[in-house]
Amino acid sequence: MSDWPIGVFTSIDAGLGVKLEVAHELGVPTIQLHAPKRSTRTPDNAERFLERLEELGIELTAVFGGFDGESYADIPTVVRTVGLVPPETRAERLQEMREISDFARLLGCNVIALHLGFVPHDTTAPLYQEVIDVTRKLCDHAELNDQAVHLETGQETADALLQFIKDVERDNLFINFDPANMILYGTGEPIEALRQVGPYVRSVHCKDAKWSDRPGETWGQEVPLGEGDVNIEAFLSTLKEIGYRGPLTIEREIPQEPERQKAEIAHAVNLLTQLREKLLNG
Ligand code: MG
Repeated sequence: MSDWPIGVFTSIDAGLGVKLEVAHELGVPTIQLHAPKRSTRTPDNAERFLERLEELGIELTAVFGGFDGESYADIPTVVRTVGLVPPETRAERLQEMREISDFARLLGCNVIALHLGFVPHDTTAPLYQEVIDVTRKLCDHAELNDQAVHLETGQETADALLQFIKDVERDNLFINFDPANMILYGTGEPIEALRQVGPYVRSVHCKDAKWSDRPGETWGQEVPLGEGDVNIEAFLSTLKEIGYRGPLTIEREIPQEPERQKAEIAHAVNLLTQLREKLLNG
């Protein structure tokens, strides 16, 4: 793989990504995949999907887990419903993540990723220890499949995320850095956060957003790449500075408007291609 191959977040039957065909039409050489529904995660389907990737010359770089019952409606709802944090659904979701890890293995993919949910800020809270425990179990299962686990950023500040990763004490736990999420959730200035967590960043989302007027209380607004407050050129030059050379995976979460989604991703591909040329070869 060349340095900074462009990627796009895709979905088969679950999640907010684009279809594989869109990645192909846009000439994007890598994808992350939102894990398909349980009924679709069969060995036969894995084989078919692999054949399709081969035909299209696309490389799968990560499989993202997501769960029924998650809602990103507003920040309090995220706290209540997302990831492995909510106690009521934790055991069944851990089980599902293990199955997703096994499915990713069938796809020959050595990275699984997820939104863990809102890790409590108080590291002495019993819930904090519970989230550490469940993350260890997930990392240990992934290890059996020779996989790393990437935590999507957003819900935590850089400091809290670093502390959490250290406390989990597993060497296959890393970060999928999404600069827009830091803005959407109001958890910190993304470029500064990226420098801080740099050594753990093993995949990224290229996504842009504008700050809320009440950061951390209400959502910021996701916008097309280059039109928000991230500063994409600064984002990429900071990735260069921390030594990151992995995929630049575009994420644009407006599946309800597929034509607009595709057009904006095409625009993002152009922007990233130009910046890559400038920063890596300029
Ligand atoms: Mg993301």
